[in-house]
Amino acid sequence: MEAKKNKIIKNDEKSIQKYRFLFQSIVVLICIWIGVEFYLFINFLESGGLASEYFRRPAGVEAFLPISALMSLYFFFLTGEIHQAHPAGFFILIGIITVSLAFGKSFCSWMCPVGFISELIGDFGDKISKKLFKKKIIMPKFIDIPLRSLKYLLLGFFVYSIFFAMTAASLKYFLDSPYNIMADVKMFYFFADISRFSLIVIAVLFVLSIVFRNFWCRYLCPYGALLGVLSLASPNKIKRDPVSCIDCGLCTKACPSNIKVDKKLTVFSDECSTCLSCVDVCPVKDTLQLKSIYTNKAQDKKKIGFAIAAIYLSIIALGVITGNWHNKVSQEEYLINFKDINSLGHPTSTRDIEYLNKKLSEKEVANGQRNSR
Ligand code: SF4
Ligand code: SF4
Repeated sequence: MEAKKNKIIKNDEKSIQKYRFLFQSIVVLICIWIGVEFYLFINFLESGGLASEYFRRPAGVEAFLPISALMSLYFFFLTGEIHQAHPAGFFILIGIITVSLAFGKSFCSWMCPVGFISELIGDFGDKISKKLFKKKIIMPKFIDIPLRSLKYLLLGFFVYSIFFAMTAASLKYFLDSPYNIMADVKMFYFFADISRFSLIVIAVLFVLSIVFRNFWCRYLCPYGALLGVLSLASPNKIKRDPVSCIDCGLCTKACPSNIKVDKKLTVFSDECSTCLSCVDVCPVKDTLQLKSIYTNKAQDKKKIGFAIAAIYLSIIALGVITGNWHNKVSQEEYLINFKDINSLGHPTSTRDIEYLNKKLSEKEVANGQRNSR
């Protein structure tokens, strides 16, 4: 370290964390705006269509229907067709997947509103634990590793239920169903009339997120698990120059994902969310950078947010330009389905889907026999 100290060139680049905070805040404001529009749409449905003004359902609400979007994606792979129940959800998912393939799990630290709230709770928790215990509380490794596998188990369940248990016919059956069409409305009522049990679960997660930073994201979010897996294929990784590094360990201390950045040459982790906190705190110029593993070219950290927004918005624009943003469900259909909103059920268990596949193939055989007569 002594030998290295002579050659230290101070890192005088400004931190981009404020700018990332601004980016996250804009996304949250957009979500609030979508929430208000959706609330007005629900009010219209509740009036039975008698309200003087019709508020169009905001398509962006489909960002909160990731399972339906995953089904639409698989349906697209099998049939080449973009299902029209939640086409915006399909494009939002493609946008998020593309961003993850380009810049790792950056969606979690730049765009996800839950990730943002989780981060704010984590900052609050860190302040308390530093005051009380003079250090951050970190989950012991022997609990951390098995807990981290939970989100992959959840992801595995969804992947199996969709990609292995469903056919194009059963996907279409599900995606066409009133349950899927009204899934966003049902989600609204889930939160509007939240049960005591759900409230207790949210409260427990809140407390756990104060004690253990990003509890939900790190251990339970299947969406984060999916993006974490995809992020491994991203060419842009945090790289450390071992020659100029002075082993101060500040990068590891700053990492919200508890990655030992100071011990790595390249951060190749499904937990890295490309938040660039480590890059910002590194005191030595060009020692820690986001670089392409193929060209070794450093990415300008000030432009990462623009690059993420550009990729994401281009894919959304593609959805809008091709007429696949707003769904084709009519006002009348919404009003009819709304009358039965409480009784709408869905076939999601593997047994139900197997049964559904069997019934659909029996129907196809029967239709074939009828046609051949
Ligand atoms: S390694 Fe760096 S970029 Fe990745 S999560 Fe940790 S601090 Fe953020
Ligand atoms: S912050 Fe990390 S990469 Fe930078 S000098 Fe310190 S130990 Fe090395």
